[in-house]
Amino acid sequence: MTAHSATPLPDRTRRPTRQVHVGSVALGGGAPVVLQSMTSTPTHDVDATVAQIHRLATAGCDVVRVAVPEARDTAALPAILRQSPIPVVADVHFHYQRALEAVDAGVHKIRLNPGNIQDRAQVVEVIGACRSAGIPIRVGVNEGSIVERRDKALRYAEMQKLASDPHRQMIALMIAKLEETIGIFEAERFEDLVLAAKSPDPRVVIDVYRAMAERFDYPLHLGVTHAGPPETGRIRSVTALATLLAEGVGDTIRISYAADPLEEVHDGKELLCCLGLRARTEPELIACPTCGRIEVDLLKLVAQVRARLATIPVPLKVAVMGCVVNGPGEAEGADVAVFAGKGRGVICVRGEKVRTVAEADILDALYEQAVALAEQVQRGQVELTTGPIQIGPE
Ligand code: SF4
Repeated sequence: MTAHSATPLPDRTRRPTRQVHVGSVALGGGAPVVLQSMTSTPTHDVDATVAQIHRLATAGCDVVRVAVPEARDTAALPAILRQSPIPVVADVHFHYQRALEAVDAGVHKIRLNPGNIQDRAQVVEVIGACRSAGIPIRVGVNEGSIVERRDKALRYAEMQKLASDPHRQMIALMIAKLEETIGIFEAERFEDLVLAAKSPDPRVVIDVYRAMAERFDYPLHLGVTHAGPPETGRIRSVTALATLLAEGVGDTIRISYAADPLEEVHDGKELLCCLGLRARTEPELIACPTCGRIEVDLLKLVAQVRARLATIPVPLKVAVMGCVVNGPGEAEGADVAVFAGKGRGVICVRGEKVRTVAEADILDALYEQAVALAEQVQRGQVELTTGPIQIGPE
């Protein structure tokens, strides 16, 4: 019997793109999909921001973005950059001076919305600064601000089109605006770009990124904007991001929630692992959904096992099943498993039954077996493989 590896990275056809570098992190051009998040602390609060960046990096975040609305925020960047374990992107909304200050401070990338900066000469100045610093710029469009605001005739025409066929016309408009924006950069021969097109509607996100992937060869930053709290935003985000990533589209992702950004990183990492785009480094928990056969408090046990497993740095598959009747079949592939029954649990390691313990001892016994197997893997005595594991009935 073989143990199951949680680190298969299949030969997935990724869309070829140019490659840019965000500090030490390659983005696009066949590099692994980069996981991003954004701090929610005031950037000028250096200690709080650095602490949050460390938490995000520890959870698996590759690149972090910080907002720099005020001069005191860009003034904090040198201290943040010195202490950040991952590359830092400065998010600039309206003030091109913030972009220049951020580049001067040494950030690894700028996020810029040229549509929000009135004077094209100012955008060109930022482009020049980024070129000199050798850093990329992320540009994009946002569904919420896509319709022309200054030119009334153009605004009317765009609104008419959108009213006639909202979905298709929205995609066409976003692509047209992106082309216009990219034109500004290409006129300056600046091609160190990452593109984004944001919408809160996953169907718009899917279709606009498919269109972008056909048209542009710049790396793409995927995200569903204003997705809401994790409870509702999770499905909304994964609907769009999983669809695109499974098609090979997308070079960096940010799942954005109205919540602690740590949740964005946890979910983004899980999404990448589920798609085989990132190797697991921690155990993967499998648990049965429970049914009328259940004879133990499985939900409580699952929560306890999950918390314990977080301390094991090996990608074992661990199954917690509610019975010995269907459990073994449903847990096929697990490296360590428990099949709980009336007042006891049968523990299997790599398909072999190793112990039967009282219900109160299941948690400790399962954890012990998981730790022992993880140590064997770390010592090179056991190799995790991708094959299925047959678990015989009791
Ligand atoms: S493993 Fe057993 S208890 Fe759990 S869902 Fe399947 S049949 Fe029901």
